[in-house]
Amino acid sequence: FDQLEGFIWMNGEFVNWADAKIHVLTHGLHYASAVFEGERAYGGEIFKLTEHTERLHESARILGFRIPYSVAEIDDACRELLKKQGLRDAYVRPIAWRGSEQMGVSAQNSRINCAIAIWQWPSYFDPAQKLKGIRLDMAEYRRPDPRTAPAHAKAAGLYMICTLSKHAAEAKGFADAMMLDWRGYVAEATGANIFFVKDGKIHTPDPDCFLNGITRKTVVDLARARGFEVVERIIKPEELEGFEQCFLTGTAAEVTPVSEIGPYRFEVGEITKTLMNDYSAAVQPNHAIAAE
Ligand code: PMP
Repeated sequence: FDQLEGFIWMNGEFVNWADAKIHVLTHGLHYASAVFEGERAYGGEIFKLTEHTERLHESARILGFRIPYSVAEIDDACRELLKKQGLRDAYVRPIAWRGSEQMGVSAQNSRINCAIAIWQWPSYFDPAQKLKGIRLDMAEYRRPDPRTAPAHAKAAGLYMICTLSKHAAEAKGFADAMMLDWRGYVAEATGANIFFVKDGKIHTPDPDCFLNGITRKTVVDLARARGFEVVERIIKPEELEGFEQCFLTGTAAEVTPVSEIGPYRFEVGEITKTLMNDYSAAVQPNHAIAAE
């Protein structure tokens, strides 16, 4: 973590990076009552900032709390912090959590906190590997049934199985893991959505029990604007054998080609390359996204 200086926005104030501390009895730490966002700034502008901030508010609502700062206030704080950090291309991490005022499963009286950190994070996956396609392991954990966990919130607790799956994959030399959902259908990677290409058509799982990523939606729009057919449907793991291309989408991952999932192999093909380029163009400030 090389960015260890500058400021963190915390509950309405800019504090020194090293002073942005919380108490060890924070409810969010003990019981995962925390929601967060991941955003990227390109050329001094945070891509789809308001959409991310709205999702942060919605995630908090799903977890039963209200962030005491409006979407506009958080947007402004993100923009101001980006300037204060002196960065144009950066990763933006807003987070909201229940504080340390009440210990126990119930935390009706705990304070709701909100903070934003911004640092440089050029590439989520190894840049050289990214161009050749990354290798994915098959995760053992499955995305939970929406009746088991609030699957559509970007909530800290949902990342427990993601970290476990990513660590297990990394221990075997893979960059990441592909997770199935609770029914055994293809879901997503541990921090990014997944797409496949076959016979010129793009296929991606229905986001009915995982995050419908902002990058996912952007890439679907970009693909349709190019005239590609995008099919959102149930994808069974046995179909992996027939797909020619595969890629991941996410704010951190952007569009990352996949060369391998378990025993299956994919090429970094034209459609993947086209969408990587279209996404790189779309995130630049003042770029008019065709479908917006
Ligand atoms: N799924 C998971 C589990 C994620 O953590 C992310 C990253 N936020 C995504 C999908 C992609 O979402 P987005 O494109 O909005 O970054």
